[in-house]
Amino acid sequence: MAMKLVRGDKQLAGDLIRALEHVRSNLRCCSLCGSVTSVDEDPCRLCTGPGRDASQLCVVEEPTDVASIERSGGFHGRYHALMGRVSPMKGEGPGELRIQALMDRVKKERPTEVILALSTTVEGDSTASYIAELLKGQGVKVTRLAFGLPADSGVTYSDPVTLEKALKGRQEA
Ligand SMILES: [Zn+2]
Repeated sequence: MAMKLVRGDKQLAGDLIRALEHVRSNLRCCSLCGSVTSVDEDPCRLCTGPGRDASQLCVVEEPTDVASIERSGGFHGRYHALMGRVSPMKGEGPGELRIQALMDRVKKERPTEVILALSTTVEGDSTASYIAELLKGQGVKVTRLAFGLPADSGVTYSDPVTLEKALKGRQEA
């Protein structure tokens, strides 16, 4: 990037500076879900839009995960970004994440289902277990994504972890 800036025309650096300034002064994280929104639209449209189903709350690790799920077009509920996952190796405990904010939302918004769309890593799994434990007795159904086999592939070419998850997440045919 530095090389491109040095060798490119001066206009490029100026455009980049203005774009970054625009982001810094006009965008922020939504106070409810944590995804990116404009300063004058907080809570964001995903939290307040009439087309969003308040009965489903999807918990993700990062705001970028919200964008990925939105692109899939398969979910119309609300989101909650944790801003990370429990990671003892990196010194990130539950206190560093937006878990208390999640509990507050569940109590206030009363969704019928909390979907834990966390990564399929040891850290993602332990974060999911931790949250599922906290939500016990709250009268809310807690689910995790079913991790399927890659498209255009089959059992032969799947790694054991994906295969195990696919088996566990199997649904009635
Ligand atoms: Zn929001």
